[in-house]
Amino acid sequence: KLINKDVIVVGAGAAGLFCAAEAAKRGRSVTVLDHAKRIGGKILMSGGGRCNFTNMYASAENFLSDNPHFCKSALSRYTQWDFVGLVSEYGIAYHEKTLGQLFCDNSAKDILNMLLKECDKAGATITTQCEITAITKRDDGFELETSKGSYQCESLVIATGGLSMPKLGASPFGYKVAEQFGLSVKPTRAGLVPFTLHEQDKSVLADLSGISLDARASCNDTNFNENILFTHRGLSGPAVLQISSFWHPGQAVEFDLFPHGDLHQELTSAQVQSPDSQLATVLAKHYPKRYVQTALPYLGLENKPLKQYQGKQLQQVADAFHQWQLKPNGTEGYRTAEVTLGGVDTNQLSSKTMMAKDVEGLYFIGEVVDVTGWLGGYNFQWAWSSGWVAGQEA
Ligand code: FAD
Repeated sequence: KLINKDVIVVGAGAAGLFCAAEAAKRGRSVTVLDHAKRIGGKILMSGGGRCNFTNMYASAENFLSDNPHFCKSALSRYTQWDFVGLVSEYGIAYHEKTLGQLFCDNSAKDILNMLLKECDKAGATITTQCEITAITKRDDGFELETSKGSYQCESLVIATGGLSMPKLGASPFGYKVAEQFGLSVKPTRAGLVPFTLHEQDKSVLADLSGISLDARASCNDTNFNENILFTHRGLSGPAVLQISSFWHPGQAVEFDLFPHGDLHQELTSAQVQSPDSQLATVLAKHYPKRYVQTALPYLGLENKPLKQYQGKQLQQVADAFHQWQLKPNGTEGYRTAEVTLGGVDTNQLSSKTMMAKDVEGLYFIGEVVDVTGWLGGYNFQWAWSSGWVAGQEA
C-alpha cells in the first residue's frame, strides 16, 4: 500500500524531530522515518548525559562552513532564547555550566521527551527500523521505497546527520540523497575529536593520562582557551576538541600552557627570591607535580637550582611552556567525533528555508549540511534553528 503524507522527514534526531513537530503544528500531515531501533541516541549521550542543548552566546561566529554567512538567517529566525523558552515551558530545569553552555539539571532524557511530546501533540508520527531503499522525484513530490512500505510526500526533509558515531546510527544517507539530486557535498571529516599522537610523543605523554591543564590551543589563526586532557590514547579535553575542527593532517598545534600570565617573569622573580629552589619545585606551584616531572625531560629542559640558569635560559624554559608545539598523528576519527565537518553544499540551499534551490520540496537540515558548530551547545542550536525554518515551509 502507498502511504500518503504532506511531509516526510528522514532521520529522527534533534533536527528531524524538531522540524516534524513544527511542520505538524501548521496542520501538515508528517511522519518521521528512521532506520535505528531506538531514536535520540545522540541526544541521550550528549553533554555527558545532560545535553548541552544550546549556548547563550550562539551566533554565526561559532560555526564553520564554506559559507560563513549561510547560518545567519536560521539562527536569527529561531534563536537560542526561543529554544530556552520552550525548555522553560516544559518545566525542564537547566543551568549554565561555563561559557554560556546550557545543560539540563537532571537528564538529556528531558530534552528527548520534550521533542517526542511536541511531535505527539502536533500529530507527527515516527516510524523506526525503517530502511529507505529508493527515492524518486515525481511532479508533485517524492516517492520513497522503504522496508516498511511505499510512501508518497510533497516535501521531503533529510535530517540524517553526519558520519560521527556510527554505533548510534550514523550513515552517509543524506550525502547520497544530495548527490542523487545533483547537489554537491563538501568533503567531510571528523570534528570535535581527540588527537592521537606519534609514537615518540605517546610513549612519554601516555604516562600523564588523567591530567588536565588550562591551555590556549592555536592552529590556523584560531585559538581556544579551555582545558586539555592527557589520555592513554592521546590528547583530549575541550580546547583540543575545539581546535581539532580547525586542524588539518600534518599541521602542528601550538599550546600555551601558561595562558594567563608571563612564565618568564614568574621564573625570574622566583630566581631572585629563592635562587636555590629547583626549577621543578617552582613549576610545581603552577602544574601537577607528575606533569612537571615528565614535561621537563620531554621538552628537553634540565632541572637544576634556579641560580644556575643564565642568560636566555629561563626565557627558553618559559617559551617551552608558552609555545609547546605538537604535531598530532591524526584524530580518533568518526568513532568518537562529536560532529562531522563538511556536508551538503550550502550554496545549493536557501538559507531562509533550507530547501534545495533547484529541487522543489527537498530540504536538508541539521548536521548533514555544511554547517558545523564549536563545542558548547552550538550544534544542537543549529539543529533547532535549521529544523525550525524548514518546519515553517515544508
Ligand atoms: P542526528 O542527531 O545525528 O540524527 C540523525 C538521525 O538520522 C539518527 O536518528 C539516525 O539514526 C538517522 N539516520 C541516519 N542514517 C539514516 C538512514 N540511512 N535512514 C534512516 N535514518 C537514518 N551537540 C551539542 O550542541 N551539545 C552537546 O552536548 C553535544 N554532545 C554530543 C555528544 C556526542 C557523544 C555526540 C556524538 C555528539 C554531540 N553533539 C552535541 C552533536 C549533536 O549531537 C549533533 O550535532 C546533532 O545531534 C545533529 O543533529 P541531527 O538531527 O542533524 O543528526
